[in-house]
Amino acid sequence: MLYRTVPKTGDRLSILGFGCMRLSPTKTGGVDEERATRQIRYAIDHGVNYLDTAPVYHLGRSEPVLAKALAHGYREKVRIATKLPPWSVHERADMNRILAAQLKTLQTSYIDYYLLHSLSRESWEKLKNIGVREFLDAAKKDGRIKNAGFSFHGNTATLQEIVDAYDWEFCQIQYNYLDEHNQAGTAGLKYAAAHRLAVMVMEPLRGGNLAGPVPDEIRKIWDESSVKRSPAAWGLRWVWNHPEVTVVLSGMNNEVHIDENLKEAGATLPNSLTQDELAIISRVRDTYIQLMKVGCTGCGYCMPCPAGVDIPGCFAIYNTHHLFPRDRTAKSLYIGRLGGILGDKSYAGLCRRCGKCETICPQHLPIPALMKTVSQEMEGRTMGVKVNVAKGALWCLDAAGRIKRKLSQKTP
Ligand code: SF4
Ligand code: SF4
Repeated sequence: MLYRTVPKTGDRLSILGFGCMRLSPTKTGGVDEERATRQIRYAIDHGVNYLDTAPVYHLGRSEPVLAKALAHGYREKVRIATKLPPWSVHERADMNRILAAQLKTLQTSYIDYYLLHSLSRESWEKLKNIGVREFLDAAKKDGRIKNAGFSFHGNTATLQEIVDAYDWEFCQIQYNYLDEHNQAGTAGLKYAAAHRLAVMVMEPLRGGNLAGPVPDEIRKIWDESSVKRSPAAWGLRWVWNHPEVTVVLSGMNNEVHIDENLKEAGATLPNSLTQDELAIISRVRDTYIQLMKVGCTGCGYCMPCPAGVDIPGCFAIYNTHHLFPRDRTAKSLYIGRLGGILGDKSYAGLCRRCGKCETICPQHLPIPALMKTVSQEMEGRTMGVKVNVAKGALWCLDAAGRIKRKLSQKTP
């Protein structure tokens, strides 16, 4: 296992982190706790020392499963990263209450890496106004957390504002060879690293979509390379090739994939890809872009939209929906990320057809017309209902946690 250093603290983290959002599933959709425990301990035994979870993962099961997996001496070998859910925070007291519950659930007296979950400009403003920076300062001072950070799916400009607004130790962004210009992108990665933040990368394989089975056009390009690797290995190596990246999170729930990831994590140094290898990846990227329904490069020149539409974000999820038809998560992602549940409302249906974006787009995309198509396919006529159902599910999760806490307080 190779390790990289957190710039502000000198902490040494394994370049492969265990993402606990996609733990080994049971046939009925729960978590196969025994298998997940075996896999987590195996990864730790082979050098992984960073594990990332959150209260919402697996409908609240991820943190308790991780706690069990880290019993018998494993807790001391690793850094735990977990997250404060902004949608459950309404006042300063909520932050302390949620963190206390997480410490109890995770059976630990401190969280190594504590993130504000999926910050958007709106949720950051809300948290800032109710004192999240003071909360983080206090939690660091009294040792409940060791490092403060945030996870993020917004655009580069918002990332830069948030980076500048607090003395963070780290951040977590989505990054892979298809997202160079999407979300935080390479510009956001470099900005965070230049401000001495460790950068943890999520979705290095776009939720597994870049790992295969890949379209025939893509397979042919990989086959032409004199260096033989799986699509997953190519994708991971591309991310690790960036010296600004500290940890790459992989949601691992298959023993073969864990071994493959561990092997790559033991061999990939920064700037280690050759020009030929980078050229092959560029061809794969270009081919994916050609295969996409909408040829949006994610450059962001069309932003901001006066109606609040996340134009590149809408196209990115729409393209994923069409490129990877077996992936059923794109629509949920669309509702969660653009519907206003995890941030500001920014879905295609908000477009007022003002045409401002169309005159700027270097790809000459008919954006207002495309927004109509995206809205019809991704939202249908029931966007409001879907958003409310998803919000209801989050509320239930939150309420279940509160009830559980009350019951445990009453139990002698
Ligand atoms: S046409 Fe629609 S997407 Fe484009 S800037 Fe106007 S409101 Fe925004
Ligand atoms: S300007 Fe065009 S290519 Fe660039 S992000 Fe907007 S829609 Fe995509």
